[in-house]
Amino acid sequence: MALCEGVRRFNFATFRHLYRSSLVCSQRKLSENLSSKYNASTGGESTTDHPIYTHEHFALKESLNKIIEQEINPFVDQWEAAGQFPAHKIFKILGSAGFLGVNKPIEYGGLGLDFSYSVAVSEELGNIRCGGIPMAIGVQTDMATPALARFGSPELKKEFLVPTIMGDKVSCLGVSEVGAGSDVASIMTKAVRKGDEYVINGGKMWTTNGTQADWMCLLANTSDGPPHKNKSLICLPMSLPGIHITRKIDKMGMRSSDTAEVFFDDVRVPCKNIIGQEGMGFTYQMLQFQEERLWGVANILTMMDNIIQDTIQYTRQRKIFKQAVLHHQYVHFRLAELHTEVELLRSLLYRATGLYIKGNDVTKLASMAKLKAGRLAREVGDSCLQYWGGMGFTNDVLVSRFYRDSRLMSIGAGADEVMLSIICKYMDTLPRK
Ligand SMILES: Cc1cc2nc3c(=O)[nH]c(=O)nc-3n(C[C@H](O)[C@H](O)[C@H](O)COP(=O)(O)OP(=O)(O)OC[C@H]3O[C@@H](n4cnc5c(N)ncnc54)[C@H](O)[C@@H]3O)c2cc1C
Repeated sequence: MALCEGVRRFNFATFRHLYRSSLVCSQRKLSENLSSKYNASTGGESTTDHPIYTHEHFALKESLNKIIEQEINPFVDQWEAAGQFPAHKIFKILGSAGFLGVNKPIEYGGLGLDFSYSVAVSEELGNIRCGGIPMAIGVQTDMATPALARFGSPELKKEFLVPTIMGDKVSCLGVSEVGAGSDVASIMTKAVRKGDEYVINGGKMWTTNGTQADWMCLLANTSDGPPHKNKSLICLPMSLPGIHITRKIDKMGMRSSDTAEVFFDDVRVPCKNIIGQEGMGFTYQMLQFQEERLWGVANILTMMDNIIQDTIQYTRQRKIFKQAVLHHQYVHFRLAELHTEVELLRSLLYRATGLYIKGNDVTKLASMAKLKAGRLAREVGDSCLQYWGGMGFTNDVLVSRFYRDSRLMSIGAGADEVMLSIICKYMDTLPRK
């Protein structure tokens, strides 16, 4: 079924074949056709000498950009004001075009490409004019589904992965709880085996897509063993009796993304819904986090590029003391510093991604990139907003939205201090308990 569906969608395999057949004669033409924006966003390289992207990555980005400009950006302000975007509608559009499973297996509806294509997609999604919608899409593609794609049974993949890739089902990730965010090992939600079912009690906090999701990738304790070996990931349909969305959380940023608190009261789910082996959930989740973190870095890089460019444009035309704001040395020097830092971070991302797709453990580099991205986004948001003066303090400009949205980068998916702990572990400088 997935394959038949795949033919009607953005057929990347066919694209690749056709493209390779005419590679020599079309190479120049394709680079000429690619808009200059793609060169700018890669730090100035031509599309032929990019460290990890091929022409195929750029073609994929360009195709996604059309959807963003036609189907998403015109409505972002409306969805930000409403405090929610229509996840089913947008995911169906993206799923039909193949963008929800670029690195997922072809037999389950994905495009069968490597993780560098997910990074390219994430970078392009950074052109959405808010942080909330890209984050919601990232949950669907690179946070709730990597473990299922890697370790799930074929039946589970057919039931949950295929419709998620197609955009027919919205997914969410249930890891954090009221009493356990940074310390994932201390989650309290329990899934107790009774016959061929698990009975689940507990709750999840901060669940992105939580009010709209059809299923949750749930991390729960399935035994009383040691905290790193007693957890499992379970595909949990959100329509089951006993699941209550207790509230939609009112947030300072990421306004268009719904965030829920969820409560489980004797929820019964078949044991076959477990992803991979019982007791391996913590390990699977830690692996899942690597992709989540690299995805997040790629996404915010484009946003930082856009904010710096918007600020250059605004300060070039705004005059103070008889000259453009931009022409005051302090301003253009600061923007040059920020641009330099963004390029350094981009190099780290590409290095980590390049190593990851070759099968290396990039936990240290991914953690460094996530840490740096959170801190740099705070600097970019703060400095750029300053140069907009009073306009920067209004809700009418992108820079103030970025200032609010990007603050999450140092908190979500592992706070800065969690990243520092991981890096210290790899440096062997963490005091042993
Ligand atoms: C908008 C939003 C969306 C989210 N989406 C999801 C989702 O979809 N699914 C999901 O499971 N979770 C989600 N989260 C949860 C997010 O991952 C957690 O908020 C994050 O892990 C931090 O956990 P906490 O909020 O419980 O903070 P706490 O764990 O209470 O930590 C508080 C602070 O302590 C500091 N700290 C942490 N560790 C250390 C340390 N070792 N040493 C010193 N200081 C330290 C950090 O500064 C941290 O911010 C989301 C959160 C937000 C705000």
